[in-house]
Amino acid sequence: MKFEVTILGSSSATPIFNRNPTAQVLNINEKLYLVDCAEGTQQQMLRFDVKASRIDYIFISHLHGDHYLGLVGLLSSMHLNGRKKALKIFGPPPLKEIVDLQLKYSETTLHYPLEWVFTDATTKGIILENQDIFVETIPLDHRIPCTGFLFRQKKRLRKLIKEQIEELEIPVAYYSAIKKGNDYTAPDGTVYKNSTLTIEPAEPKSYAYVSDTLYVEKYLAQINSATLLYHEATFLNDMLDRANQTHHTTALQAGEVAVRVNAEKLVIGHFSARYKTLNELLEEAQSVFPNTELAVEGKTFVISE
Ligand SMILES: [Zn+2]
Ligand SMILES: [Zn+2]
Repeated sequence: MKFEVTILGSSSATPIFNRNPTAQVLNINEKLYLVDCAEGTQQQMLRFDVKASRIDYIFISHLHGDHYLGLVGLLSSMHLNGRKKALKIFGPPPLKEIVDLQLKYSETTLHYPLEWVFTDATTKGIILENQDIFVETIPLDHRIPCTGFLFRQKKRLRKLIKEQIEELEIPVAYYSAIKKGNDYTAPDGTVYKNSTLTIEPAEPKSYAYVSDTLYVEKYLAQINSATLLYHEATFLNDMLDRANQTHHTTALQAGEVAVRVNAEKLVIGHFSARYKTLNELLEEAQSVFPNTELAVEGKTFVISE
């Protein structure tokens, strides 16, 4: 099952030349999930060929402008482009008030329903479950209520051993039950154990999106063993005081988080506008966690094929 994330923006606070504030899009089994929606997100979607009509879920981590100021523009474009199907938005409760107010004064009644799911930054919880995944909020420690999001694949069905199935000429109608773990009884009464017909599916993969936060203990257990960990790394560690004051993380700390939670891979982002180039941030994170990459715009990270 396809499970990948494309970076649309990775700047913090303000856009700078060639770097947009935070947004990214997940493709999970050909469904698109937008995570944060800073200004410029629509331009980035056009640039990287992300179709707004394919997005059914939008997740907003918190109400600092560098994470949501593109939202109303995107909702308006969906309206103007004739969207009819519902859109689910997950975010802090005041976000609805903000959106409603903007729509009210532009006298816009959307032609499609918005379905709101409010996040609670004080406690973790499952906010979405569909046939492919679970999504949990990750309570973070920022200046205003902020949650990350943990996307976990559901455990998949067992995989049929094709040669065996063909040799026994098992009718297609039995496949579903066998994939669920049932044995197969042939017309002559012979029972074939499930373990001879199937193999274990791949372990479920996960993507942890850790947006603006201080480096604190409270979210570590929840993101343990993440296949791909996105962690903010606003500053180099020589700016640790500034990171603490503004409730952000340094690149070194992001690397330490990846080590401590035993992540498979780390992607760092949310870079301060002060850094015109990003190599030092990358090297600092890699000094503790070598398998680190930068959240470069347009780059796609594969979590599962
Ligand atoms: Zn931010
Ligand atoms: Zn913030």
